[in-house]
Amino acid sequence: MKKELIVAIDGPSSAGKSTVGKLLAKRLGYIYIDTGAMYRAMGWKAVRDGINLEDGRAIARFCDETMVDLSLNAGGKSHVLVDGIDVTEAIRTPEMSMMASAISAKQPVRERLVELQRSLGEKGGVVLEGRDVGTVIFPNAGAKFYLDADVRERGRRRWEEMRSKGETVDLEETIEAIRRRDHNDMNRDHSPLKKADDAVLIDSTGLSVDEVIEKMAMVVRERHGDPACR
Ligand code: C5P
Repeated sequence: MKKELIVAIDGPSSAGKSTVGKLLAKRLGYIYIDTGAMYRAMGWKAVRDGINLEDGRAIARFCDETMVDLSLNAGGKSHVLVDGIDVTEAIRTPEMSMMASAISAKQPVRERLVELQRSLGEKGGVVLEGRDVGTVIFPNAGAKFYLDADVRERGRRRWEEMRSKGETVDLEETIEAIRRRDHNDMNRDHSPLKKADDAVLIDSTGLSVDEVIEKMAMVVRERHGDPACR
């Protein structure tokens, strides 16, 4: 039997990476790793502690003193911990999205988290999603995808998701926040978001979740003959 693969899913905000990543991992019997949650956790602690992101020394010390962990609870749901505090829910706000984007541009933060992400994924049998999985964390990943969608469609999906949680949000503001975050993530100096040359581009505009997963599963199967992927 072939070695279990590393599957990389990168792409801009709200392209559906988490939804399809979780389901694809389930279908393959792989572990799902949300790398963005780790940046959000660092951002959460930086806000709590009032860290000045322009102070290089403070950021370096902050990185040395911060422990981020992912853990699975009994029901198989993944939890994010920072210094042992469960921040799984607290990091899912628009403010934390922007903070994660700001702190993820800092090189010491990236070095710290990339090291952790590599140690979690190096044995294979994992689906990782983020912005630099196929370009920086695992450039030799067995299957790489770049999941994109029209920005208005991504904004609408995020808006619907927030409304379903009972939050009052404006559609145009939600779209604008996504545009801003994409701009930050694509134009930063360190590990900017871009498609790896060998990543398969999937535009999910107008596609259902099942259709996206089907396309991904087909690529994994065709390229690697993974028996788990049917
Ligand atoms: O994917 P998610 O929206 O949770 O990511 C939050 C932020 O974390 C992104 O906007 C991006 O700035 C950063 N990120 C990153 N590299 C990753 C994953 C996320 O820079 N691999």
